[in-house]
Amino acid sequence: MKDTTCTCCGSSNLIETYDDFIIHEPFAGHSTVRVHVLECLECGFAEDDEANDLIINNELAVLKRKSMVNVLNDMNKEGYTNASMERILGLPARTLARWKNDMSVSPSAAGIALMRIVRTFPWLLNVAEYKFDQEKARSIFLSVALNELHKIDSETKHWQVESGIYTSEELFVVAKAYSREAIPAVEKNCEYQVVENLEV
Ligand SMILES: [Zn+2]
Repeated sequence: MKDTTCTCCGSSNLIETYDDFIIHEPFAGHSTVRVHVLECLECGFAEDDEANDLIINNELAVLKRKSMVNVLNDMNKEGYTNASMERILGLPARTLARWKNDMSVSPSAAGIALMRIVRTFPWLLNVAEYKFDQEKARSIFLSVALNELHKIDSETKHWQVESGIYTSEELFVVAKAYSREAIPAVEKNCEYQVVENLEV
């Protein structure tokens, strides 16, 4: 360390210090890793130690694994077994079980992305089960969307909810309007959704 020089000013008057680096991963929270920093006492430049990449990548791998375990636990709690998800998604048997239980196996980046998407929108499994038929996919999506709108109804207890269906020559629109009296202003929010384009 003593013969290291500052890449900014060339001074060898450096001290080794530390910095806490926070890493975030979806569905895994965050982790703090301590990284080494070389600080130049002449110019103040702080330079990362090359070994930090390994420290950060190792912790990232731990968090990604934790993310996958959490995602699979969440899906299992919702009633989706690993075997059923493997079948629907066309994954080799026991792929998810290994990602969940085998500490020596690291899920692929594509696998992590896939399961995070499925965890966010579990109804995509229904779409996959119907072999991604576009008509069926639209029907599933609209059904889920309407159910979500009903959930909003129950979450907005003090809001006045109005809904209606409006048609024109080209559109069939289901609309919901949320409003509530507020002092001094009236807050309003409106969501609408095109259910089907009608043939003219
Ligand atoms: Zn320097």
